[in-house]
Parts: sequence; structure tokens; C-alpha cells
Amino acid sequence: MEIITKSPEETKKVGRRLASALIGGEIICLSGDLGAGKTTFVQGLAFGLGIKSRLISPTFILVRKYNLQPKNNNLTPDTLFHVDLYRLEEKVDKEVVNLGITDVWEKKENIVVIEWAEKIKEIIPDKAKWVFFENLGADERKIKIE
Ligand code: ADP
Ligand code: MG
Repeated sequence: MEIITKSPEETKKVGRRLASALIGGEIICLSGDLGAGKTTFVQGLAFGLGIKSRLISPTFILVRKYNLQPKNNNLTPDTLFHVDLYRLEEKVDKEVVNLGITDVWEKKENIVVIEWAEKIKEIIPDKAKWVFFENLGADERKIKIE
């Protein structure tokens, strides 16, 4: 599916919509250049999962963890992990394993969203959902969800 958004709000809405389909255990891989809208998308996704605090880009700390409020239905996810691999350049696979992220994404109560996931595509499980972002100039972004 391909969507063109014309504002950050529209991109957040796409993230929010995806959030409503999540049941836990998902790995969402985001790929695209700096400024293409990945973090903006995650802000919408986090909002959709009921996270009220402001979502900060984890660029300088690699991983941010958010506890999810229990819902009145059978949804199992209880934690969102927001990972950003932008800063990592060498042996990224190994780094991600050392950080425990591969353990985290095996648990069905976790949702893991990863910016710059293409850096570790060799170790990303097949079940992962990929989302590609492209900057079309000014406020236009192309979002392709596989
Ligand atoms: P990334 O995480 O991919 O580096 P960000 O989401 O941090 O990108 O930044 C995207 C930037 O582009 C933000 O400053 C945002 O306000 C701006 N922007 C403009 N139009 C859009 C749009 N349609 N979708 C997402 N971001 C947009
Ligand atoms: Mg970002």
C-alpha cells in the first residue's frame, strides 16, 4: 500500500491507523532517509497505542521503552520499544543483539519499531512489517507499507 502525505499530521495519522491493528509481537521496520518522516510516523503510532507522553527521537540513546496502558479488551501488548539505529555504523547486527533487542522482539507482549532497520536486515525476522519513507520535497512524503 502506498500513501502520499502532505503534512506531519497526515503521517502521524498513518502511524495511528497502523497502531489500531497491533496485537503484540510485531516488529515494524522503518526505512528511509533522514527527515523522511519515520519518527513522525512513530509519534502517531505511539499516540494510537495510548501513549500520552511526548515521544522523543531516540537517536542519541538507541532505544526508548514505553509502558502501554492495559486496555479494556484482549490486546496483549504492554510495552513499546522505539529503536533508532541511525548512529550505529559498524557491526550493527552484533550491537543490536548485545542491546537485547533480539530478545525483546521475540516476546509477544512487546511491539518493536525500528528506524533504519535496513542496517540489520539480515537478522530481521520474516514476520516483520516493513514501511518505506520517501521525501518528495516540501511537506510531501511517500509511505509504502508492505
Ligand atoms: P526521520 O525520523 O525519518 O529522520 P522525522 O520524522 O524526524 O524524520 O522528520 C520529518 C520532518 O519533516 C519533520 O520536521 C516534519 O515536521 C517534516 N515533515 C513535513 N512534511 C511531513 C510529512 N508529510 N510527513 C512527515 N514529516 C513531515
Ligand atoms: Mg528519526
